[in-house]
Amino acid sequence: MDKTIYLCLAHMSEEGIEQKYVKEAFDTNWVVPLGPNVNAFEEDLKRFVGEGKEVVALSAGTAAVHLALLACGVGQGDEVIVQSFTFCASSHPITYLGAVPVFVDSEKETWNMSPDLLEEAIKDRIAKTGKKPKAIVPVALYGMPYDCTRIMEIADRYAIPVVEDAAEGFGSRFKGQVLGTFGKFGVLSFNGNKMITTSGGGALICNDTESKNQIMWYATQAREAYPYYQHETIGYNYRMSNICAGIGRGQMTVADKHIAHHRHVQALYRKLLKDVEGVLLHEAPSADYDSNFWLCTITLDPLLRVKGQENAYKDVVKTAVGGAAGVIHAVDCATTDCQPNENVEALRAFMLDKKIEARPVWKPMHKQPVYKDAPAYINGVSEAIFKIGMCLPAGPWVTDEDVHYIVECIKEAIVR
Ligand SMILES: *Cc1c(COP(=O)(O)O)cnc(C)c1O
Repeated sequence: MDKTIYLCLAHMSEEGIEQKYVKEAFDTNWVVPLGPNVNAFEEDLKRFVGEGKEVVALSAGTAAVHLALLACGVGQGDEVIVQSFTFCASSHPITYLGAVPVFVDSEKETWNMSPDLLEEAIKDRIAKTGKKPKAIVPVALYGMPYDCTRIMEIADRYAIPVVEDAAEGFGSRFKGQVLGTFGKFGVLSFNGNKMITTSGGGALICNDTESKNQIMWYATQAREAYPYYQHETIGYNYRMSNICAGIGRGQMTVADKHIAHHRHVQALYRKLLKDVEGVLLHEAPSADYDSNFWLCTITLDPLLRVKGQENAYKDVVKTAVGGAAGVIHAVDCATTDCQPNENVEALRAFMLDKKIEARPVWKPMHKQPVYKDAPAYINGVSEAIFKIGMCLPAGPWVTDEDVHYIVECIKEAIVR
């Protein structure tokens, strides 16, 4: 292979429709965080998520989580229940608001929030604090739907609003219904590595015009109707730029094609990994769970021997995983007290040598030093999967030939 196969990369429409809308923004001088592209992108998203919903385009998925929590009334000293097995953008905004995340572990089947533990956590928080948690944040990990039936039933019974983090689950469905449309709010992300991209951006799915207007108001610095800037509430600068929305409009023309391709890649992994002993592809528990397979994930049997595993974690990694931009803190120790097994680390390194980007699954938030004091309701599932899990490349750039090559490399890495 002369190219690197990345986990998931932005992929523009073949016809360059994105550039047409971006050019339009320049030609009409709408180079601001509002405008015709933003409005049209929101209309496209409304059509995509289905009848009766409103959508607000924002500068990031993280901003969408933040504003959804704010609109649920989350403030200083409140508690918010959040899936522990996730990317930090699900939980960090809770702390932005001065609230406390209460982490809930996962069920084995979907890797997402365990409904049993959710109810246990609600009861215990009420018993311990005398207050109900202000919101519940389940996460569609790698696109896999959570158990919407049970989570919504529990949330409704306790009258706690649900903020669905469907940032990775754009286009996934549960029992035929689009993720992000079950709760009070649904979070979408259009970062460069998500199902569709606006280079960076996000959106919030809302249930009605009133909540849409509330979100829009918060996203534009919460201004009052005076001929000058009058501020009675703290607001944010979170609206999507008209340039980014132009990219989003173009991406919406290929969204269905992208989703179909991710599912196709998963199906190909299924076929090719079927007889590879010790390597298990993560699949949906039933037809009710219609995942977009944003990333395809596997788990490695701890007894599986991978070439070079005796040298795993010998060297300090120089950059963060994911080719992350920005500044990464250097570390002087190659290990932590909770890390993937040595065979997983060895496979990651082996694949990198073969120019394939493979990555451990998200490290659960309740195992993150920054959250060491947060309450957590744990059954061991997410930590166990973190130790054996691995993400494999998916998305429109990954060809059938690539998938064959990836699986061949996995086979080559295994010591039989
Ligand atoms: C990507 C992502 C988000 C939002 O991230 P942004 O990069 O801010 O758009 C939120 N939650 C999860 C689980 C994500 O993967």
